[in-house]
Amino acid sequence: MLDKTRFITRVSQFFPPTPGSRNGKCIICAHYTEKGHDVDFSGNFTSWNLLQEGNCICEYCYTLCRDQQYRRISWVASLKGVRFLKRDEILPVLLEPPEPPFAVYITKSGKKQGFLHIVNRVNYNKNHYCIAFEDSILFVERSSLREMVEIARQARNLRFSKSELLNGPSAKHWEYKELCMKIEHLSRNPVWEVVVFAV
Ligand SMILES: [Zn+2]
Repeated sequence: MLDKTRFITRVSQFFPPTPGSRNGKCIICAHYTEKGHDVDFSGNFTSWNLLQEGNCICEYCYTLCRDQQYRRISWVASLKGVRFLKRDEILPVLLEPPEPPFAVYITKSGKKQGFLHIVNRVNYNKNHYCIAFEDSILFVERSSLREMVEIARQARNLRFSKSELLNGPSAKHWEYKELCMKIEHLSRNPVWEVVVFAV
């Protein structure tokens, strides 16, 4: 069997191509194509700052950018295909990512094209990888993620609110001093926001 993993160099290749007839360089992933499309974004497109130099959109990035569900719903992409994620499915996927290569996009608002940040960053390591979250790129260390999830779950079981997890525990919760100090420390880590959103 042909080793398909070698051919995945950009995240949009996980998505079914939509062949066009335009030759050129893709403004999303910067690869050359003979099956691209003219650049013609709808009013929903807000991420002009993330584009690269080029004159068309390749057949893979076209699918990713045109199909609005890929922007509105979180997903995980691997050689097995693209799977949409409900909120409670996010942490299990981050804790146990698919066999590489893979990519993950997580959205709260459903309005950003944050996956443009990772289009040229296919993950080949399950222990250190990057994800797109809203309008940013985050680097995940799986061992520290495990610890964060444990702390978030522990705090939620003790009825800490999500706002407390993000902005600091309220006075009534400082009886759990050790836990509160861990939370304050973690609130400086951008991955913590994903954990709190998804826990
Ligand atoms: Zn492209």
